[in-house]
Amino acid sequence: MKNVRNNGTGPDGKRAATDGEGQGEGVIVAHLGVAVEVLFAGGGRRQVRIKRRSGHVVGDRVTVAGEVLTRLPRKTELRRRAAAGIHLVGANLDVLGVVVAPLPAPPAGLIDRAFVAARAAGLQPFLVVNKCDLEGADGMVAELRAVYGRSAPLFPVCAATGRGFELLEEFLARGHRGAFVGITGVGKSSLLNALCPEIDLRVGALNDFNDRGRHTTTVATLHTLADGGELIDTPGFQDFGLVDITARQLALHFPGFEETGAADCRFRDCRHRTEPGCAVAGMVTKGAITAERYETYLDILTEVEASEEENRRRGWK
Ligand code: GDP
Ligand code: ZN
Repeated sequence: MKNVRNNGTGPDGKRAATDGEGQGEGVIVAHLGVAVEVLFAGGGRRQVRIKRRSGHVVGDRVTVAGEVLTRLPRKTELRRRAAAGIHLVGANLDVLGVVVAPLPAPPAGLIDRAFVAARAAGLQPFLVVNKCDLEGADGMVAELRAVYGRSAPLFPVCAATGRGFELLEEFLARGHRGAFVGITGVGKSSLLNALCPEIDLRVGALNDFNDRGRHTTTVATLHTLADGGELIDTPGFQDFGLVDITARQLALHFPGFEETGAADCRFRDCRHRTEPGCAVAGMVTKGAITAERYETYLDILTEVEASEEENRRRGWK
């Protein structure tokens, strides 16, 4: 039942003056290299040719006049680090779903780093615990709720059966445009397939390609969900990970420190380590932040500082 309004007519059945001929304001819903597909406000869609290095990405709002496409200012930008440098993978996203599962278990610090990167980019993070049919899932959900419950929405789901989808779909339907990140094997493709039945991704496809060392042409796409909301699928992004976070971003956005607020520290650039008048250290003393979470923060801070130092030494930043 999707695409019912793709005949170029508005809700009242009249041809919308602005997009009837594939003109006016719209959003890029697919990037095909030499062209992008634009979905116009009234529901029509068509491809518009672009220059190779024009920098447009899925999610960009644009105006089209004739064959001329003009990009409108972005609200948010989501980036990833790739071998060739830093790539922009999507524009104007609102939320980022960090997908985890009992198996494969998330590496230490993955959720915290992803939350920090999302917030630093202006996106609200949320957690999806997939494979809730597996043993150990209940315990994992309880643990994650205890740590992240006050920082972000958490959705236990089973992509295999669709269990738990209602709440996730409701969340995305609140006018949200999102994307998923997580390590290979947690079920991101399965989730996208189940949520957007028309996209038909190959589950486990990435492994196949890796095994054969093959390269494929990947197409980033934006999908409208049946009940509202949108998901961006950017092949390759989900597993390569986000751009490195900075120590400053970590100190500002670490999940669990929100209520301190870190803004109450005496020093505006406080790293919550040994600085006098640190609001976070105060919360640890009071027991409002557990010693374990604080240790985790300090471990990640030490790692981030070391990689910043390494980058400086190499003259990268
Ligand atoms: P991705 O690498 O994150 O995109 O993960 P895939 O979607 O390719 O899934 C990896 C594996 O997990 C596949 O074998 C899926 O069939 C399986 N899988 C996905 N969702 C579930 C689930 O809810 N329960 C179980 N038991 N397995 C799942
Ligand atoms: Zn502090």
